[in-house]
Amino acid sequence: MMVPCAETNLCASVDSQAAAADPWDVIIVGAGPAGSAAATLVAKNGLRVLLLDRENLPRAKVCGCCLSPLALAELDMLSRQGTAPLKLQIQPLKKLTIASQGHAASVPYASGGVLSRLELDTQLTGHAVATGTAWLPNTRALHWQTDGDFVLLSVQSKNTDPYQIRTRRLLLAAGLHNAVRCDNNQFSHAQRRQRPPHNRIGLGATLPSTGGPLDHKHLIMAIGDGGYCGLIRLEDNTIDVAAAIHPSNLQKNESPAEALSHILSQAFDNTTCPINIATLEEMTIRATPQLTHKTGPIDPDCTKIFRIGDAVGYIEPFTGEGIGWALCSARLASAALVTEAGQLRPVDQAAPRYHRGYHRALAWHHRRCRLVSLALRSPRFVSTSVQLAGYFPHLTGIVARLITGNSPLG
Ligand SMILES: Cc1cc2nc3c(=O)[nH]c(=O)nc-3n(C[C@H](O)[C@H](O)[C@H](O)COP(=O)(O)OP(=O)(O)OC[C@H]3O[C@@H](n4cnc5c(N)ncnc54)[C@H](O)[C@@H]3O)c2cc1C
Repeated sequence: MMVPCAETNLCASVDSQAAAADPWDVIIVGAGPAGSAAATLVAKNGLRVLLLDRENLPRAKVCGCCLSPLALAELDMLSRQGTAPLKLQIQPLKKLTIASQGHAASVPYASGGVLSRLELDTQLTGHAVATGTAWLPNTRALHWQTDGDFVLLSVQSKNTDPYQIRTRRLLLAAGLHNAVRCDNNQFSHAQRRQRPPHNRIGLGATLPSTGGPLDHKHLIMAIGDGGYCGLIRLEDNTIDVAAAIHPSNLQKNESPAEALSHILSQAFDNTTCPINIATLEEMTIRATPQLTHKTGPIDPDCTKIFRIGDAVGYIEPFTGEGIGWALCSARLASAALVTEAGQLRPVDQAAPRYHRGYHRALAWHHRRCRLVSLALRSPRFVSTSVQLAGYFPHLTGIVARLITGNSPLG
């Protein structure tokens, strides 16, 4: 049954009956940057690809909306792969300010871009659909089991009972949500995500354009003892607020808005905060599951199942690189899944190829981010660094580029 589609939504191109009728070459769960990019890259070979998401697009997402140099390079490559180029209105970043305990240090920062997730995710999924991907929104993946050469995925669309769809390969791109499980209990131990203690969760809100005097192209990172918060003005003039906080802040009877206000008022004194903190009280604040986790690119029990994007593993977002990693993993997984001649590669060759490629491309970025997140656990270290940065701006630029993974010589 086709779910009715509002004019502003990216309408389904397939209904639940058609999705369940014949086996797919590849089913992709999750239409974030990882899932949509992979869909384009596999579908361009003429393979039958189904992309599904529990939500419809456009949809809000907790994210700082900054595009790292890796993300920009991946988007550029992806744009050349579909039937028509992507038309993304990415704004360049110009300046980064880090604020802590009333001190602030700013550096020119011209190697990134900004785009809302409403726009980015909708455009990427539209690109995948234009390239031949079948799109099934409002459909939640529940669990999977193997069946000979196929994987059987149980799903539930809005207004339907659960039903099964069949695929030769399954790409899990469901982000931080540990939602899609194996049906068989004997597999459940190997599937479990590893999460470190003192993990943080994400909080996000979108403030109206009148939410404060924040300049365009200026990224602000405010650091408090309970977490940190990024502020950026988006292409439609609204202000994106995205934070990583320790969940104990919420348990101390602080509302999400109070937790965000707390970080901002610790980082800035009242006169310098670039947003009107009181506005937060009136906004809807979205939350994520715990942020840092590690699962792995290949399912340990079924090598027909690859994970991409945040579903593989994620480290706190201070350096703003998750979208770049998601796009990169989608490209590596697609290249491993499909041969140069456009056929599905045998699993015994595809799985090690993706595993190797993933670790070669991203392991060092993950290590660097882990170090940055450890350093951020010490408010005294951060505050002293920010004060020192005021005296040595040249050194600050080099450190900022190292933190964000850019060569200081680049
Ligand atoms: C506070 C914060 C700030 C961040 N800031 C930045 C930044 O500035 N720059 C940056 O590059 N990265 C940033 N990130 C990270 C970035 O948001 C993620 O790395 C990126 O979204 C990962 O993309 P993805 O496609 O793997 O997953 P997602 O974008 O999370 O997409 C997953 C999709 O799967 C769907 N889904 C989930 N479960 C199911 C299911 N069972 N069935 C069907 N569909 C399902 C969801 O609806 C969603 O659409 C930030 C993250 C946080 C939390």
